[in-house]
Amino acid sequence: MSKGRLFVISGPSGTGKGTICKELLKKRSLALSVSMTTRQPRTGEIDGVHYYFVSKEEFLEKLAQGGLLEHAEVYGNYYGTPRAMVEEKLQQGQNVILEIEMKGAAQVRESYPEAITIFVLPPSLEELRKRIRGRGTETEEAIRLRMSKTLEELQELPHYDYYVINDILEDAVRCTEAIIDAESVKVDSTVTELIRKYEEEEQTL
Ligand code: 5GP
Repeated sequence: MSKGRLFVISGPSGTGKGTICKELLKKRSLALSVSMTTRQPRTGEIDGVHYYFVSKEEFLEKLAQGGLLEHAEVYGNYYGTPRAMVEEKLQQGQNVILEIEMKGAAQVRESYPEAITIFVLPPSLEELRKRIRGRGTETEEAIRLRMSKTLEELQELPHYDYYVINDILEDAVRCTEAIIDAESVKVDSTVTELIRKYEEEEQTL
């Protein structure tokens, strides 16, 4: 069986990459990687479903064992992708999706150059500010800081394979599905297996 494809969805926070991923899972056969984090669970979050919630010691132990495909520190908490599940699913021919921030995406690009990376953009900074204000969880000063950080993070965009502008969610999901569909039938070294399948069939005709 040919190996699955590894998709990375990344981008500044507040752009809706998590929502896009959730919608994608309903429409395509994808295994979403469950990350490990040292942050506290939010209301409604389930251990092993949304994240593996662990202590800093457990996280650092996993990291030292080489058990993380990538990791990053975000606002004082650690986040990382457990390597085993990703490798197992890819080996089984399943497509895997990671929803991670940009420093982690850069590490994935290093260790998996064949990974397909997608950058989610807000339609504008003004719209992003509106969305963050709408959540009502941050002060004006924090929002201003976030805007300049977003601009800094945008400098990473040239390193990605695709970008998706999340203006209307449905359109952004459709665009991401199109990327996944096209990449799933892209000719690569695994097509020799496909040719072999036809050759074997020919023997039985
Ligand atoms: P939150 O705490 O809001 O769930 O996530 C904060 C940020 O961490 C988001 O941008 C999210 O995409 C990112 N993130 C979640 N899991 C991982 C991971 O395993 N690795 C990295 N590098 N970032 C992650």
